[in-house]
Amino acid sequence: MKTILVVEDEMKIARLVRDYLVQAGFDVVVAGDGESAIASARGRKPDLVVLDLGLPERDGIEVTRELRRTSNVPIVMLTARGEEADRIVGLEMGADDYVVKPFSPKELVARVRAVLRRTASGAAGAGGTEILRVSDVEVDIPRMRVRVGGRGVDLTPTEFQLLATFAREPGRVFTRGQLLDAVHGVAFESYERAIDAHVKNIRRKIEPVPGQPRYLLTVHGVGYRFADA
Ligand code: CA
Repeated sequence: MKTILVVEDEMKIARLVRDYLVQAGFDVVVAGDGESAIASARGRKPDLVVLDLGLPERDGIEVTRELRRTSNVPIVMLTARGEEADRIVGLEMGADDYVVKPFSPKELVARVRAVLRRTASGAAGAGGTEILRVSDVEVDIPRMRVRVGGRGVDLTPTEFQLLATFAREPGRVFTRGQLLDAVHGVAFESYERAIDAHVKNIRRKIEPVPGQPRYLLTVHGVGYRFADA
């Protein structure tokens, strides 16, 4: 059984989310603040974290940063309408996805399942059993591993799936909308800036000089493509 850590200070929402996740067959641990969230994440090693951004004291952004120092556990953020800037920062810190409040618990469960699918089987999620090689970037789909010039690179599930999408068709230009489809299956919301945040993270990890990308190139006014030479 997969364990989900739910971090939410509003108990009403925490209970609602817990009940839906339990009903969907998950084991659920609830934490009401950032500090205990970090402790639970270390102790219980959840398969996924549902993380409210608006927490007292250590907020969701800080918790994301802390978790990412030692773990690639998938993170789905809960954010309020007005928190778009925070949402982008959260994605830049390495969160995988987000749901905007007020949300339907069913949608959240669907999102949790989608992120877990990507994580559980890089192969199924990214659709293949092959090892892709483009210039000196190697994307090992079944093992969810990436190497750049022989050096291992640690990506979150969402970053991995994006990179696999690019590497499968080097040179092809992808719009942000197409990339959202690639990571969600269905684009629930067209927050295309989320893609920019993920791309920025991938660049930080794979590019020798992230500000002057060699591999993952911007196509102005359209989207992104992977260098094909
Ligand atoms: Ca809150």
